[in-house]
Amino acid sequence: MTNASAPAPDSALPLDMIIFGGMGDLAMRKLLPALYMAYLHGNLPPSTRILSTGRQHIDRKAYLAHVEAHSRGFIARENFVEKTWDGFLQLLEYVELDVQGAPDFSALAAASRPGAERVFYLSTAPSLFTTICDKLAASGLVDANARVVLEKPLGTDLASAIEINEAVGKHFAESQIYRIDHYLGKETVQNLMVLRFGNSILEPIWRAPNISSVQITVAEEVGVGSRAGFYDGTGAMRDMVQNHLLQLLCIVAMEPPTSLSPDAVRDEKLKVLRSLRRFKLADIARDTVRGQYGHGVSGNQEVAGYLEEKNVPPDTSTETFVALRAHIDTWRWSKVPFYLRTGKRMARRSSKIVVEFANPPFPLFPGAPGGVANRLVIELQPEEAIKLQIMAKEPGTGMQMQQVALNLDLQSAFQQRRAEAYERLLIDVVRGRLTHFMRRDELEAAWEWADPIIDGWATLGEKPHAYAAGSWGPPESFALLARDGFSWVE
Ligand code: NAP
Repeated sequence: MTNASAPAPDSALPLDMIIFGGMGDLAMRKLLPALYMAYLHGNLPPSTRILSTGRQHIDRKAYLAHVEAHSRGFIARENFVEKTWDGFLQLLEYVELDVQGAPDFSALAAASRPGAERVFYLSTAPSLFTTICDKLAASGLVDANARVVLEKPLGTDLASAIEINEAVGKHFAESQIYRIDHYLGKETVQNLMVLRFGNSILEPIWRAPNISSVQITVAEEVGVGSRAGFYDGTGAMRDMVQNHLLQLLCIVAMEPPTSLSPDAVRDEKLKVLRSLRRFKLADIARDTVRGQYGHGVSGNQEVAGYLEEKNVPPDTSTETFVALRAHIDTWRWSKVPFYLRTGKRMARRSSKIVVEFANPPFPLFPGAPGGVANRLVIELQPEEAIKLQIMAKEPGTGMQMQQVALNLDLQSAFQQRRAEAYERLLIDVVRGRLTHFMRRDELEAAWEWADPIIDGWATLGEKPHAYAAGSWGPPESFALLARDGFSWVE
């Protein structure tokens, strides 16, 4: 997708990609492998250099050894080309920098080429963003060609999100800020926009009353792992719902944009966020479910409950699961429930959007199997797929119906490789394309909706419902849909 209004980077300039947190988990598992893939496919300008920063007192050789040991393994075997990898390593430099300790960034300024086009990837805790941006600016590293990429979490509530936005906005124009939500980089999510707005058959029925409900699930099989220190202060609502699930909801619910320019698309997403009905205390009690996993079986192994995990405070009420019923108060979506669900230690890793269409007004065929006749299922994880469930006649002498899936098999329709979300988004950053990144007002509107729910839970003071690790969440989550005559599609 093109996006005309993003500032076109001056491709004649050398590109310096500067990663803060260059030795961290995200850099090793995602960023460097994604940059390698971009390099492998010729999507990095030949002049690119990657300057990784970190606090450790090591030289370039030791850094490369660290990358060999901790990053190389995250490149799929079929994509690994020894010679290309060696070429990629040549792009890497290491700059020792404690952003809090250093009075300024002169070491970084000395390493970055004068006049280079600079991309700053802030892969650190957000508490460092202000210091990093202030010192980058003071060191003369921020100019009109510079871009900054911000990793989530972008705040823990509206006030902290505003604080981060203000601090970054002091030195970078909005058109230079890339707030990353890697769900927006997924092929299938981008394809949903094409499906909706590149065809004319769906749009007329893409509304109430033709659509009876929408479900968005992002289920993780893993538990909190070693991230309890971070996670316990965050919870599933802040970690997943406020960002990934709301962004998916926006793509499902937005009106057709007038163009693919970043602002045209983001204006429409913003309207959705602003139309989300606000939860009052009674709505929170009725339409939201918080859960916390207990001991159970996951992937054939017995696993600990959240409270038994390392570094989890005793008796904490942090939720590892959320299900809720949201409403978008617009003509298009009037009375259509949007069910959102996310959790850790669920039965399996599975992210999908399910759009359920209204059933035919009366049952013509005897012995209909019941349930929902038509569903559009957009699977995002672990595999990306789009399926349309329709009713078809069972072969035979009668008129028996069965649900069958029209499978839009994109893997065989297109021979091209499907890039990972981080690779695609990093290429967008390099090329100055902002469409698939969140704008400031979107982020703040998402917090405006999420904050009252989080505050309401605190006011209600209820403990999260227990669910067994390896299950689909607490029974209350099923009851939430059953009440309206729906059920989760696993
Ligand atoms: P991490 O492994 O803890 O890495 C954080 C990095 O920050 C480390 O490399 C550390 O450098 C650096 N850092 C900390 N204090 C510093 C200082 N004073 N000066 C310079 N560097 C400093 O964390 P991560 O998992 O990579 O996550 C990074 C960010 O991305 C976090 O905000 C996280 O929430 C977000 N995120 C992570 C993931 C993921 O899958 N990991 C996914 C989505 C979002 P040293 O090497 O010197 O310790």
